[in-house]
Amino acid sequence: MSPTQLIFDLDNTLYPPSRGVVARVDARIDRYLIERLGMAPETAGPLRARYRDAYGTTLNGLMRHHAVDPDDYLTAVHEIAVEELLTPDAVLGAMLAALPQPKAVFTNGSAEHAERVLSCLGVRAHFAHVFSLESVAYVPKPERVAFETVLARLGVDGPACVFVDDRPENLATARTLGMRAVLVGERALADGTPLDGAIASIHDLASLLARP
Ligand SMILES: [Mg+2]
Repeated sequence: MSPTQLIFDLDNTLYPPSRGVVARVDARIDRYLIERLGMAPETAGPLRARYRDAYGTTLNGLMRHHAVDPDDYLTAVHEIAVEELLTPDAVLGAMLAALPQPKAVFTNGSAEHAERVLSCLGVRAHFAHVFSLESVAYVPKPERVAFETVLARLGVDGPACVFVDDRPENLATARTLGMRAVLVGERALADGTPLDGAIASIHDLASLLARP
């Protein structure tokens, strides 16, 4: 592969799910549903998952069906101690430094969360752009318009890009725009989504890109 732009998801892509960041955000989302929207504890978790599957993010479902204020929600659910869970990843930093392409992050999380995660991993300086949910007017991946917004802001076409994410549905949209789609993580080999590459860890990206 010889892309001219690399675009990375953030959570569960630049670090593995075992770090527990997403689990803590999910617990905060459940609390938000229970305490702020008055849902029963036993319905909060299933609704969170159902909205995320149907609309890309739980927030997108809450904005459509519950008139939730996105900034209030994003502040509440990202109030977690990221610094307790993530430490600088020197291997990732060295790999990113050695890859010549410009790099961007495109996350369904908030801008503040993205900045905290990137600085805890010690890799913030490698990314020229960080596109958060606020950057795409709260319309998340896997919506096509979210990807189109990011490509327009970067000034590149889909075929110039490699896009790396842990969620097959996001990669499926990326491919419809001509991007080369790389799945990262445990689900890498289990899913049937057409892909251009699959890696168990983000640390394996450089060797994948080096293949002809
Ligand atoms: Mg992710």
